[in-house]
Amino acid sequence: MISGGGGVVDAGQAETAGNAGASPVRRGRADLHMHTAVGDGLSSVPEILRYVVEETDLDVIAITDHDDVRAALEARDLAARHGGRTEVIPGTEITTRQGHVLALFVERDFPMMQSLDQTLAAIHESGGIAVCPHPMSWLTTAISEAHLRRLHALGDDGRASGTYFDALEVLNPSIAGRVAYARAKNLNRAELHLPVIAGSDAHAAHLIGTAYTTFPGRTAADVRAAVAAGTTRAHGRFWTLGETWSIAGESTYRAWFILPVRRVQRVLGTANPPVSQPPSPTAPLAQNEGDMGDRAEVAADG
Ligand SMILES: [Zn+2]
Ligand SMILES: [Zn+2]
Repeated sequence: MISGGGGVVDAGQAETAGNAGASPVRRGRADLHMHTAVGDGLSSVPEILRYVVEETDLDVIAITDHDDVRAALEARDLAARHGGRTEVIPGTEITTRQGHVLALFVERDFPMMQSLDQTLAAIHESGGIAVCPHPMSWLTTAISEAHLRRLHALGDDGRASGTYFDALEVLNPSIAGRVAYARAKNLNRAELHLPVIAGSDAHAAHLIGTAYTTFPGRTAADVRAAVAAGTTRAHGRFWTLGETWSIAGESTYRAWFILPVRRVQRVLGTANPPVSQPPSPTAPLAQNEGDMGDRAEVAADG
Protein backbone atom coordinates (compact mmCIF):
# COMPACT_ATOMS: atom_id res chain seq x y z
CA MET A 1 0.00 0.00 0.00
CA ILE A 2 2.88 2.33 0.67
CA SER A 3 5.13 3.09 -2.23
CA GLY A 4 6.98 5.96 -3.75
CA GLY A 5 10.23 7.35 -4.97
CA GLY A 6 12.13 6.03 -2.00
CA GLY A 7 11.83 2.49 -3.24
CA VAL A 8 9.54 -0.17 -1.87
CA VAL A 9 10.99 -2.48 0.70
CA ASP A 10 9.43 -5.43 2.40
CA ALA A 11 11.68 -7.13 4.86
CA GLY A 12 8.93 -9.34 6.13
CA GLN A 13 8.88 -12.18 3.69
CA ALA A 14 12.54 -12.80 4.08
CA GLU A 15 12.62 -12.38 7.82
CA THR A 16 9.81 -14.58 9.06
CA ALA A 17 8.79 -18.14 8.53
CA GLY A 18 6.80 -18.86 5.41
CA ASN A 19 3.16 -18.04 5.69
CA ALA A 20 1.80 -19.69 2.57
CA GLY A 21 -1.75 -20.84 2.95
CA ALA A 22 -2.36 -18.77 6.06
CA SER A 23 -5.71 -17.12 6.48
CA PRO A 24 -6.22 -13.86 4.60
CA VAL A 25 -7.18 -12.04 7.81
CA ARG A 26 -5.64 -8.59 7.86
CA ARG A 27 -2.64 -8.31 10.13
CA GLY A 28 -2.42 -5.39 12.51
CA ARG A 29 -0.15 -2.46 11.57
CA ALA A 30 2.12 -0.59 13.92
CA ASP A 31 4.63 2.22 13.47
CA LEU A 32 6.93 1.69 16.45
CA HIS A 33 9.35 4.63 16.23
CA MET A 34 8.54 8.35 16.00
CA HIS A 35 9.38 11.68 17.60
CA THR A 36 7.25 14.62 18.75
CA ALA A 37 7.75 18.35 19.18
CA VAL A 38 8.37 17.71 22.87
CA GLY A 39 11.66 16.30 21.59
CA ASP A 40 13.34 17.07 18.27
CA GLY A 41 10.31 16.33 16.15
CA LEU A 42 8.19 18.97 14.45
CA SER A 43 4.63 17.76 15.16
CA SER A 44 2.74 18.01 18.43
CA VAL A 45 1.10 15.03 20.09
CA PRO A 46 -2.41 16.10 18.98
CA GLU A 47 -1.17 16.66 15.42
CA ILE A 48 0.38 13.20 15.38
CA LEU A 49 -2.74 11.49 16.70
CA ARG A 50 -4.93 13.33 14.22
CA TYR A 51 -2.67 12.34 11.33
CA VAL A 52 -2.52 8.71 12.41
CA VAL A 53 -6.30 8.41 12.75
CA GLU A 54 -7.27 10.38 9.65
CA GLU A 55 -4.46 9.64 7.21
CA THR A 56 -3.21 6.13 8.02
CA ASP A 57 -4.57 2.69 8.78
CA LEU A 58 -2.21 2.12 11.68
CA ASP A 59 -3.69 0.26 14.62
CA VAL A 60 -0.82 0.97 17.01
CA ILE A 61 1.91 3.58 17.23
CA ALA A 62 4.81 3.98 19.63
CA ILE A 63 6.00 7.45 20.62
CA THR A 64 9.74 7.37 21.25
CA ASP A 65 11.27 10.76 21.97
CA HIS A 66 14.95 10.90 22.84
CA ASP A 67 15.49 10.26 26.53
CA ASP A 68 12.06 11.61 27.41
CA VAL A 69 8.89 9.62 27.93
CA ARG A 70 6.54 12.53 28.67
CA ALA A 71 5.01 12.95 25.23
CA ALA A 72 4.51 9.20 24.94
CA LEU A 73 2.51 9.10 28.16
CA GLU A 74 0.51 12.15 27.11
CA ALA A 75 -0.26 10.55 23.75
CA ARG A 76 -1.27 7.24 25.29
CA ASP A 77 -3.67 8.96 27.69
CA LEU A 78 -5.05 11.26 25.02
CA ALA A 79 -5.67 8.38 22.62
CA ALA A 80 -7.34 6.32 25.34
CA ARG A 81 -9.59 9.19 26.41
CA HIS A 82 -10.79 9.78 22.90
CA GLY A 83 -11.50 6.11 22.40
CA GLY A 84 -10.15 6.07 18.87
CA ARG A 85 -9.05 2.96 17.06
CA THR A 86 -5.33 3.70 17.46
CA GLU A 87 -3.49 2.57 20.56
CA VAL A 88 -0.27 4.22 21.75
CA ILE A 89 2.67 2.31 23.20
CA PRO A 90 4.71 4.55 25.49
CA GLY A 91 8.39 4.44 24.70
CA THR A 92 11.63 6.36 24.50
CA GLU A 93 14.81 6.26 22.43
CA ILE A 94 17.61 6.08 24.96
CA THR A 95 21.08 7.49 24.27
CA THR A 96 23.60 4.93 25.55
CA ARG A 97 27.36 5.13 25.25
CA GLN A 98 27.21 2.54 22.47
CA GLY A 99 24.31 4.05 20.53
CA HIS A 100 20.55 4.49 20.54
CA VAL A 101 18.22 1.91 22.08
CA LEU A 102 14.45 1.92 21.73
CA ALA A 103 12.53 1.05 24.88
CA LEU A 104 8.86 0.17 24.33
CA PHE A 105 6.17 -0.38 26.97
CA VAL A 106 8.02 1.78 29.49
CA GLU A 107 6.65 4.64 31.56
CA ARG A 108 9.76 6.32 32.87
CA ASP A 109 12.94 7.95 31.63
CA PHE A 110 16.28 6.18 31.69
CA PRO A 111 19.63 7.85 32.35
CA MET A 112 21.55 8.92 29.28
CA MET A 113 25.07 7.72 28.48
CA GLN A 114 24.93 4.54 30.51
CA SER A 115 26.42 1.43 28.97
CA LEU A 116 24.34 -0.53 26.48
CA ASP A 117 24.20 -3.50 28.84
CA GLN A 118 23.09 -1.44 31.84
CA THR A 119 20.37 0.15 29.74
CA LEU A 120 19.09 -3.14 28.33
CA ALA A 121 18.89 -4.60 31.83
CA ALA A 122 17.09 -1.50 33.11
CA ILE A 123 14.52 -1.65 30.31
CA HIS A 124 13.70 -5.26 31.08
CA GLU A 125 13.70 -4.58 34.82
CA SER A 126 11.03 -1.94 34.11
CA GLY A 127 8.88 -4.41 32.24
CA GLY A 128 9.70 -3.01 28.82
CA ILE A 129 11.10 -4.50 25.65
CA ALA A 130 14.31 -3.36 23.98
CA VAL A 131 14.66 -2.80 20.25
CA CYS A 132 17.82 -1.95 18.32
CA PRO A 133 16.95 1.02 16.03
CA HIS A 134 18.76 1.74 12.74
CA PRO A 135 21.20 -1.09 13.55
CA MET A 136 24.83 -0.75 12.45
CA SER A 137 24.30 2.65 10.82
CA TRP A 138 27.40 4.79 10.53
CA LEU A 139 25.28 7.89 9.96
CA THR A 140 23.85 8.10 13.45
CA THR A 141 24.67 6.85 16.92
CA ALA A 142 23.77 3.24 16.29
CA ILE A 143 24.60 -0.05 17.97
CA SER A 144 27.46 -1.66 16.07
CA GLU A 145 27.68 -5.10 14.51
CA ALA A 146 30.27 -6.04 17.14
CA HIS A 147 27.85 -5.30 19.97
CA LEU A 148 25.01 -7.14 18.26
CA ARG A 149 27.23 -10.18 17.86
CA ARG A 150 28.48 -9.92 21.43
CA LEU A 151 24.94 -9.78 22.84
CA HIS A 152 23.89 -12.69 20.64
CA ALA A 153 26.81 -14.74 21.96
CA LEU A 154 25.65 -14.18 25.54
CA GLY A 155 22.72 -16.49 24.81
CA ASP A 156 20.89 -17.68 27.92
CA ASP A 157 23.19 -15.69 30.19
CA GLY A 158 22.05 -12.56 28.42
CA ARG A 159 18.41 -13.48 28.86
CA ALA A 160 18.96 -14.19 32.55
CA SER A 161 20.61 -10.82 33.15
CA GLY A 162 18.24 -8.83 30.93
CA THR A 163 21.09 -8.05 28.56
CA TYR A 164 19.47 -8.70 25.22
CA PHE A 165 17.44 -7.13 22.43
CA ASP A 166 13.88 -8.31 21.95
CA ALA A 167 13.83 -7.17 18.33
CA LEU A 168 15.81 -5.52 15.57
CA GLU A 169 14.45 -2.49 13.68
CA VAL A 170 15.55 -4.03 10.43
CA LEU A 171 13.81 -1.33 8.39
CA ASN A 172 14.30 2.35 9.26
CA PRO A 173 13.39 4.52 6.26
CA SER A 174 15.71 7.43 7.06
CA ILE A 175 19.01 7.77 5.23
CA ALA A 176 20.67 6.48 8.42
CA GLY A 177 18.65 3.31 8.16
CA ARG A 178 19.12 2.99 4.43
CA VAL A 179 22.91 2.90 4.50
CA ALA A 180 23.01 -0.14 6.79
CA TYR A 181 19.79 -1.87 5.77
CA ALA A 182 21.24 -4.71 3.71
CA ARG A 183 24.05 -5.50 6.14
CA ALA A 184 21.74 -5.54 9.16
CA LYS A 185 19.13 -7.63 7.40
CA ASN A 186 21.71 -10.14 6.25
CA LEU A 187 23.37 -10.38 9.66
CA ASN A 188 20.02 -10.98 11.29
CA ARG A 189 19.01 -13.60 8.78
CA ALA A 190 22.31 -15.45 8.99
CA GLU A 191 23.13 -15.21 12.67
CA LEU A 192 21.08 -13.12 15.07
CA HIS A 193 17.59 -14.39 14.21
CA LEU A 194 15.97 -11.56 16.15
CA PRO A 195 12.30 -10.71 15.62
CA VAL A 196 12.07 -7.83 13.15
CA ILE A 197 10.19 -4.58 13.34
CA ALA A 198 10.00 -1.46 11.19
CA GLY A 199 9.48 2.05 12.45
CA SER A 200 9.33 5.30 10.52
CA ASP A 201 11.56 7.30 12.90
CA ALA A 202 9.32 10.13 11.72
CA HIS A 203 10.20 13.58 13.02
CA ALA A 204 7.14 15.04 11.28
CA ALA A 205 3.60 13.69 11.05
CA HIS A 206 3.57 13.28 7.26
CA LEU A 207 6.33 10.64 7.47
CA ILE A 208 4.50 8.44 9.97
CA GLY A 209 3.71 5.05 8.47
CA THR A 210 6.43 5.16 5.80
CA ALA A 211 7.68 2.05 7.59
CA TYR A 212 5.51 -0.20 9.71
CA THR A 213 5.38 -3.54 11.44
CA THR A 214 2.61 -6.05 10.87
CA PHE A 215 1.52 -8.57 13.46
CA PRO A 216 -1.33 -10.98 14.20
CA GLY A 217 -4.03 -9.01 16.01
CA ARG A 218 -4.80 -5.32 16.43
CA THR A 219 -3.66 -4.11 19.84
CA ALA A 220 -0.50 -3.04 21.61
CA ALA A 221 -0.64 -6.25 23.62
CA ASP A 222 -0.78 -8.15 20.32
CA VAL A 223 2.38 -6.33 19.17
CA ARG A 224 4.16 -7.43 22.30
CA ALA A 225 2.98 -11.01 21.92
CA ALA A 226 4.07 -11.05 18.28
CA VAL A 227 7.56 -9.81 19.15
CA ALA A 228 7.83 -12.54 21.77
CA ALA A 229 6.63 -15.14 19.27
CA GLY A 230 8.74 -13.85 16.39
CA THR A 231 5.71 -13.35 14.15
CA THR A 232 6.22 -9.67 13.30
CA ARG A 233 7.12 -8.50 9.80
CA ALA A 234 8.77 -5.29 8.63
CA HIS A 235 7.40 -3.25 5.72
CA GLY A 236 7.84 0.15 4.17
CA ARG A 237 9.97 2.26 1.89
CA PHE A 238 12.95 4.54 2.21
CA TRP A 239 12.35 8.27 2.24
CA THR A 240 12.84 10.29 -0.90
CA LEU A 241 15.40 13.07 -0.91
CA GLY A 242 12.54 15.54 -0.85
CA GLU A 243 11.09 13.95 2.25
CA THR A 244 14.46 13.98 3.96
CA TRP A 245 14.96 17.66 3.16
CA SER A 246 11.40 18.50 4.13
CA ILE A 247 12.28 18.14 7.77
CA ALA A 248 16.03 18.70 7.80
CA GLY A 249 16.21 22.40 8.53
CA GLU A 250 13.93 22.82 11.48
CA SER A 251 14.70 19.43 12.93
CA THR A 252 18.39 20.31 12.93
CA TYR A 253 17.67 23.62 14.63
CA ARG A 254 15.65 21.90 17.33
CA ALA A 255 18.17 19.13 17.91
CA TRP A 256 21.16 21.46 18.13
CA PHE A 257 19.73 24.35 20.08
CA ILE A 258 16.41 23.72 21.76
CA LEU A 259 16.90 20.21 23.11
CA PRO A 260 20.29 20.91 24.74
CA VAL A 261 18.76 23.89 26.56
CA ARG A 262 15.92 21.76 27.82
CA ARG A 263 18.24 19.01 28.98
CA VAL A 264 20.36 21.44 30.93
CA GLN A 265 17.21 22.87 32.47
CA ARG A 266 16.00 19.42 33.44
CA VAL A 267 19.34 18.41 34.92
CA LEU A 268 19.56 21.65 36.89
CA GLY A 269 15.93 21.48 37.90
CA THR A 270 15.44 25.04 36.71
CA ALA A 271 12.58 24.32 34.42
CA ASN A 272 10.12 21.64 33.58
CA PRO A 273 8.05 23.08 30.78
CA PRO A 274 4.63 21.55 30.35
CA VAL A 275 4.39 19.15 27.47
CA SER A 276 2.01 21.34 25.51
CA GLN A 277 4.18 24.47 25.72
CA PRO A 278 7.59 24.13 24.13
CA PRO A 279 10.01 26.85 25.21
CA SER A 280 10.41 29.88 23.03
CA PRO A 281 12.91 29.54 20.17
CA THR A 282 14.47 32.71 21.55
CA ALA A 283 15.43 31.02 24.82
CA PRO A 284 19.11 31.54 25.64
CA LEU A 285 21.40 28.86 24.31
CA ALA A 286 23.39 26.70 26.68
CA GLN A 287 26.75 25.03 26.37
CA ASN A 288 26.36 21.31 26.03
CA GLU A 289 29.44 19.89 24.42
CA GLY A 290 28.75 16.34 25.50
CA ASP A 291 25.36 16.03 23.87
CA MET A 292 26.49 13.79 21.05
CA GLY A 293 23.34 11.81 20.63
CA ASP A 294 21.24 14.39 18.91
CA ARG A 295 24.10 16.00 17.05
CA ALA A 296 24.81 12.71 15.39
CA GLU A 297 21.08 12.19 14.85
CA VAL A 298 20.92 15.47 12.99
CA ALA A 299 23.19 14.20 10.28
CA ALA A 300 20.90 11.52 9.12
CA ASP A 301 18.29 10.20 11.47
CA GLY A 302 15.76 12.71 10.32
ZN1 LIG B 1 18.12 7.09 16.62
ZN1 LIG C 1 14.60 8.03 16.39
